[in-house]
Amino acid sequence: MPILWFSKLAHLEVEKVANLLWIHGGACNGNTQSFLNAEEPTVVDLVSDFGINILYHHSLAMEFGDQVRHLFDQILSDEIPLDILVVEGTVIQGPNGTGHYDMLMDRPKKEWIWNFAHKAQYVVAVGDCACWGGIPATKPNPTESIGLQYLKGERGGFLGSDFRSKAGLPVINIPGCPAHPDWVTQILVAVATGRAEDVLLDELQRPQTFFKTFTQTGCTRVQYFEWKEPVEEFGQGTRKGCLFYEQGCRGPMTHSPCNRILWNRQSSKTRAGMPCIGCTEPQFPFFDLAPGTVFKTQKVLGSIPKEVPQGSDPLSYSVHAAMARAVAPKWAKEDMFVP
Ligand code: SF4
Ligand code: SF4
Repeated sequence: MPILWFSKLAHLEVEKVANLLWIHGGACNGNTQSFLNAEEPTVVDLVSDFGINILYHHSLAMEFGDQVRHLFDQILSDEIPLDILVVEGTVIQGPNGTGHYDMLMDRPKKEWIWNFAHKAQYVVAVGDCACWGGIPATKPNPTESIGLQYLKGERGGFLGSDFRSKAGLPVINIPGCPAHPDWVTQILVAVATGRAEDVLLDELQRPQTFFKTFTQTGCTRVQYFEWKEPVEEFGQGTRKGCLFYEQGCRGPMTHSPCNRILWNRQSSKTRAGMPCIGCTEPQFPFFDLAPGTVFKTQKVLGSIPKEVPQGSDPLSYSVHAAMARAVAPKWAKEDMFVP
């Protein structure tokens, strides 16, 4: 499996150290757990081979209390340059815009994030919550959570649409719930080694190298998708069939490399029989779906999925689906296990 940025950068000489600060807002810490499991490159590689100096990370730092306050003050007074600010979690603005629900050293954390974002050369949002609000920002959003430069699919967010970091880039969004660890470490390597301008972003500021293709690319069930053969019951995921027609799989509408860059280098949700729930898209977690309809494809006309693969015309797709199912070869209907 090609490792996109890492393979291009592994031979580079590291010319300078890049100071990185990781701030945690409103979130479950899942992206940190994911990050610590990175393999290509690992977190240790970031430090030992790619010149990243982690100034502070809440799960890794030895400093606490006044030591952290002193470090933060040194950054804000430009005594220590800040190259990369990583934000995990939402910016909590409640109650009533004060930010008092989430305090850090006697200040609303939202003020720290604002200050650091305007000091940093690059700002990277890791995980859905930091990118666009994720689960905490879902209505009724009691903490008044917001993403750095988006609220769900709407541009603006906490920093505003026009925000640019000191190096002139918008926030680099690495979504996911959590983000795959290697997406994070590979982008950090690219930024730290002076290749940030080569990280082409899509219209949602996600690195195209990871988010240009659909989750479906590389799924081992694609042949069943083509012949419209479903897995009928939830929990029969290791059996033949595609999870789109009955189980609500969002693989054809979600941008992620989950079937190209495997999780734990082993597998993916859809390969293992779990429908993709679209966690790299701004509308995740799709709570507008009616209760009891998660993992269940919503239908029109009895058997045609309500949502069709992105870019398809619903009517043409329905006709194509009916024809494909009618002429599906015998092997596609045989009872067998998928790899
Ligand atoms: S299981 Fe999901 S990702 Fe895989 S082929 Fe079917 S719809 Fe696509
Ligand atoms: S398969 Fe879908 S839900 Fe699962 S991690 Fe990938 S994008 Fe997210």
